[in-house]
Amino acid sequence: MIVKPKFRGFICTTAHPEGCAQHVQEQINYVKKQERISGPKKVLIIGASTGYGLASRIAATFGAGADTIGVFFERPASGKRTATAGWYNTVAFEKAAKEAGYYAKSINGDAFSHEIKQQTIDLIKADLGQVDFVVYSLASPIRVHPETGEKFHSVIKPIGQPFTNKTVDFHNGTVSEVTIEPATEEEIRQTIAVMGGEDWQMWIQALQNAGVLAPGATTVAYSYIGPEITHAVYREGTIGKAKDHLEATAKIIHNDLQANDGRAFVSINKALVTQSSSAIPVVPLYMSLLFEVMKKKGLHEGCIEQMYRLLRDRLYADTTKVDTEGRIRIDDWEMREDVQQEVMDLWHQANTDNLKDISDIEGYRKDFFRLFGFEFANIDYEKDVETEISIPSIQ
Ligand code: NAD
Repeated sequence: MIVKPKFRGFICTTAHPEGCAQHVQEQINYVKKQERISGPKKVLIIGASTGYGLASRIAATFGAGADTIGVFFERPASGKRTATAGWYNTVAFEKAAKEAGYYAKSINGDAFSHEIKQQTIDLIKADLGQVDFVVYSLASPIRVHPETGEKFHSVIKPIGQPFTNKTVDFHNGTVSEVTIEPATEEEIRQTIAVMGGEDWQMWIQALQNAGVLAPGATTVAYSYIGPEITHAVYREGTIGKAKDHLEATAKIIHNDLQANDGRAFVSINKALVTQSSSAIPVVPLYMSLLFEVMKKKGLHEGCIEQMYRLLRDRLYADTTKVDTEGRIRIDDWEMREDVQQEVMDLWHQANTDNLKDISDIEGYRKDFFRLFGFEFANIDYEKDVETEISIPSIQ
């Protein structure tokens, strides 16, 4: 099939298998060029197929030599539909890991369910015995509660009052004003149920009860804070309430794991283009300005640079540096005062006419297409490619 990008709203509904493979390979190449990490050896990544979870899997495997089990929810190709990017990413990752001599198996299904937790536990028991590092990197719009069957939807809305600010349509570079109406109490409750810490805690409890969590194990989940201008829609909005819950859950899990010398952290990561973050209004404009400033200062990082640094300089350093709230701050360069000051100056100037000159909107757009395997210079997008390919460990 000849595969071209096709859009429905924010989402690209096609993915290019060779482009996704290239995207994964570039991340592997980056890690292989860095110093080895004296880190985890048997790792479970929940949300392992794209974005921060995939980068965590690559950093653990090629940086620390870890065996990995990855859990995700992706769709294989069928007929005229390509598979999702996360499917193709995992095909490429598993092949590369195997070639390099590392164990890598994957489980495709709803991580919120009891069934997938049990399947994962069975696989750990059969192949690894125990895991010493668990990454929780889910981003999902819905969750079905495994006990009550209630279906929750997460929304990205402010709380209390409408929020108006600038946003950009990154496909055509148009800057406009957007107003988002505030969430209802019910929407806040449901967003916390999807993106808060309950499921992470359920995972850790299930792993502990099954005896598959190694003594001294570490677990980490990811969160975001960001600048004042996005607070109303992010950190002080519905998703921020869910992140507050996730961060509070980290403390509960940490106390629980301490009895066995284990640790639980939340890591505050940098704003980056992923399938989830591109759906948030206001944030893409902020990111296109942030990337411009950080690239000029030589501080820009992608998911893989962030995750490699998280493992080497924070989680598996001699001491794990945290902020006053006990969180790891790998957003330290994004939040540097000089970076934020320059981004804010640009924010006030940004409009449709000057956007190309003052921002890295082109870099943002490219990153977005690359998530789906497009925009790689050495790939011939006019060529027929096999789209129905299997993930080696999922037959
Ligand atoms: P992403 O969309 O790239 O990845 C989400 C992953 O979750 C995928 O592997 C997907 O298959 C999996 N998934 C979704 N629903 C699932 C389900 N029901 N069962 C199993 N797997 C499921 O997202 P991302 O941006 O990498 O986000 C990961 C985490 O990092 C989130 O907690 C997010 O809030 C956080 N974070 C993101 C950013 C950012 O800018 N992207 C910044 C800081 C923190």
